[in-house]
Amino acid sequence: MTKEDCIFCKVVKGEIPSKRVYEDDNFLAILDINPETEGHTLVMPKKHFKTILDTPSSLGNEFLDAIKKVSLKLVEKYKAEGFNVVFNTNRIAGQEVDHVHAHILLRKSSDGMKLKMKGGLREKKKKEGKQKK
Ligand code: AMP
Ligand code: ZN
Repeated sequence: MTKEDCIFCKVVKGEIPSKRVYEDDNFLAILDINPETEGHTLVMPKKHFKTILDTPSSLGNEFLDAIKKVSLKLVEKYKAEGFNVVFNTNRIAGQEVDHVHAHILLRKSSDGMKLKMKGGLREKKKKEGKQKK
């Protein structure tokens, strides 16, 4: 995917419609088209950078501020009890759109979602521990 056919660059330019939650000079937040939880939102810089590693650190404070502003607004609006902030980086980690974005996943005790690491070392160690007993 090149910058020219990046769907989020098109969203930023208004060429693809989106539900805008927040916008300032350098950042945009939109509702995810296919939400995992109610109010699932994506916060992105308007400029194209592929991953968080390509994003200049000079944008870091502003990026964090945008994430905080958007999260607070969403928590109030959807009466969430908390939220997860997730950056999927590269295909192996589930990144589908190559324009850096933070997922804000609002959480409620009733949402039934489990954002747990599966098949990782912790799980393996736990299983090994059980087998030894
Ligand atoms: P990732 O897998 O981390 O790259 O996340 C990409 C996210 O973008 C997915 O959760 C998609 O549902 C979402 N998405 C893809 N296209 C659009 C779009 N046009 N508007 C809003 N969200 C989108
Ligand atoms: Zn882009």
